[in-house]
Amino acid sequence: MNYPNLIDSKLPNVGTTIFSVMSKLAADHNAINLSQGFPDFDCHEELPALVDKYMQAGRNQYAPMAGVPSLREILAEKTESLYGAKYDPELEITITAGATQAIYTAITAVIREGDEVIIFEPAYDSYQPAIELNGGKTVHLQLQAPGYTIDWEKVKQAINQRTRMIIINSPHNPTGTVLSAADMLMLSEVTKGTDIVIISDEVYEHIIFDDQPHHSVARYRALAERSFIISSFGKTFHATGWKVGYCVAPANLMDEFRKVHQFLVFSVNTPVQFALAEFLSQKDHYLELGRFYQKKRDYFIDLIKSAKFELIPAAGTYFQLLSYKNLSREKDTDYALRLIKEFGIASIPVSVFYRQQEDHSVLRFCFAKKEETLEKAAAILNKI
Ligand code: PMP
Ligand code: GLN
Repeated sequence: MNYPNLIDSKLPNVGTTIFSVMSKLAADHNAINLSQGFPDFDCHEELPALVDKYMQAGRNQYAPMAGVPSLREILAEKTESLYGAKYDPELEITITAGATQAIYTAITAVIREGDEVIIFEPAYDSYQPAIELNGGKTVHLQLQAPGYTIDWEKVKQAINQRTRMIIINSPHNPTGTVLSAADMLMLSEVTKGTDIVIISDEVYEHIIFDDQPHHSVARYRALAERSFIISSFGKTFHATGWKVGYCVAPANLMDEFRKVHQFLVFSVNTPVQFALAEFLSQKDHYLELGRFYQKKRDYFIDLIKSAKFELIPAAGTYFQLLSYKNLSREKDTDYALRLIKEFGIASIPVSVFYRQQEDHSVLRFCFAKKEETLEKAAAILNKI
């Protein structure tokens, strides 16, 4: 049927997100799916039992707009005990439908037509569309090889009167790098005396290896004052499908955030919030996560130590980058497709995280998988 063209697309260059595309291709070709980031094992058995408990107890109506108080309270305690920052659960913490909604909400609350937002690429794919839907302009700065570090001189040069926001993400998807204390001090320096707002995407805050600390912006008062900190229970509790996350920010920023939040979703799944609040009271459920995933990272890289892929070290997240420059000169998108079709393994080509699809012959593999899945994946990678 021929329909009239009623919409002049607001996102003409945006297609379906790479995560959906690759997961579908993996399913269509019966390939091992190390592309989209999600565990292939279940969440802790207590979690669904707790949701059931609260559903049976009649917690089935709208939650308060900002989130269930007990969940906000325990998040305030966690933020204070881990990062030494006090946030008022009543005014400064909001439960969201995943980190994606929190990011969109914070951007919408701040960005106006013509405002510039600095992001670092390779960058998570939801930032730029959210900026542009709000009339903002994305300023892309590249993380520097070999360690995907921020070039702070370039940041200084990029900042001007129109710069309204900087988005950071540590531990970083897709590279697995983490920001250091020195990075945080540089961020304080370049934003000092400006009205720049920061979004700190900390969804992998608990997935950090080799006993390194997580440098949350909450630890740095000068940064915390201007930051929306965003996290997600999907990553922390192996429950990506629940789509529950949260945002922490000073009351004046949170006030604006909630004005948008209340008309975007109003509130988030009630029984899940009660369940998360109870589950969070056992600190091991998140404090052990770094060690849990470090074992998986080490298991995976040991299994592929004789493969021809070159390993790019990961300090956090559940992603491992592998360079195939010794194996092929194909574009990473073509190579990733060939790995699915010919070898039965799915990954994410890292060029998709660059505005200009810069290709460094690098693929991202998610190791949030059972040992047997990692073994099957490694057997394939070792043969290529
Ligand atoms: N930020 C980053 C860096 C991510 O990797 C993800 C997805 N895993 C999100 C945000 C979105 O998280 P959620 O699924 O809670 O929306
Ligand atoms: N964050 C996950 C990843 O990087 C996927 C999220 C999504 O599918 N939107 O793979």
